[in-house]
Amino acid sequence: MKKVLCFDVDQTLNVAKTPITKEMADALIGCLDTYIVAPISGQKYDQFIVQLIEPLIAAGATDKQLSNVHMFVTQGTRYYRYDASKKDWELVYKYDLTDEQIKGMTDAMEKAAKELGYWEEDKLAEGDEIIENRISQVTFSALGQMAGTEVKYAWDPDHKKRNAIIEIAKKLTPEFEYEVGGTTSINATLPGTNKKFGMTHLMEELKVSMDEVLYFGDMTQPGGNDYPVVEMGFDTITVRDWVETANVLQGILFTN
Ligand SMILES: [Mg+2]
Repeated sequence: MKKVLCFDVDQTLNVAKTPITKEMADALIGCLDTYIVAPISGQKYDQFIVQLIEPLIAAGATDKQLSNVHMFVTQGTRYYRYDASKKDWELVYKYDLTDEQIKGMTDAMEKAAKELGYWEEDKLAEGDEIIENRISQVTFSALGQMAGTEVKYAWDPDHKKRNAIIEIAKKLTPEFEYEVGGTTSINATLPGTNKKFGMTHLMEELKVSMDEVLYFGDMTQPGGNDYPVVEMGFDTITVRDWVETANVLQGILFTN
């Protein structure tokens, strides 16, 4: 019997980096009466709020339902749960990087991208940046955070550019881990802080075993950012996009 529905965010619940649709919000709200819903993603807390929580509230999620949302932010290196009495999110734990580690990751990815000619600063929107410090990970987004979805999809559909950057960055800083994520992103972390780290803490915090969790992700292939979850042995549903996730959730709700 599953107790927790766990979701990758980018592509699995939304069009990468955008708020979930009303249809997806309704499907998730339907799940929240029966299941714990636990999103886990490389994104920051603020983006979880904008992309997931605000649309859920707009679609009518109650305090009781929100209390069943458990957010595993920046690959689960930070965990937030809802405090209904304060109507706010409580940080339960955090594993943050040191300034020196952040600098090491930032420098390595910048150097690698520049060497390959993939440092495309001229394409950034004003105020946007390629490398972003997400506190417990450092993220390279080739075209920044604000670039349109279509240009992002077109930038590296076969992951070749990012794998080349990773190869050089790894040689420069073998003490860190680099992983392809999202549509134009590379996530740099300390070894072991991929989704395996997050899922291990998730089971501990939610007091559930592996077989009580069902995981949804779009990058479950080897090398993808959802693959560590598959490798651990979780039951996993691979989806192409959020529409497919919404369809599967309708099915789960219908059979309950
Ligand atoms: Mg994804």
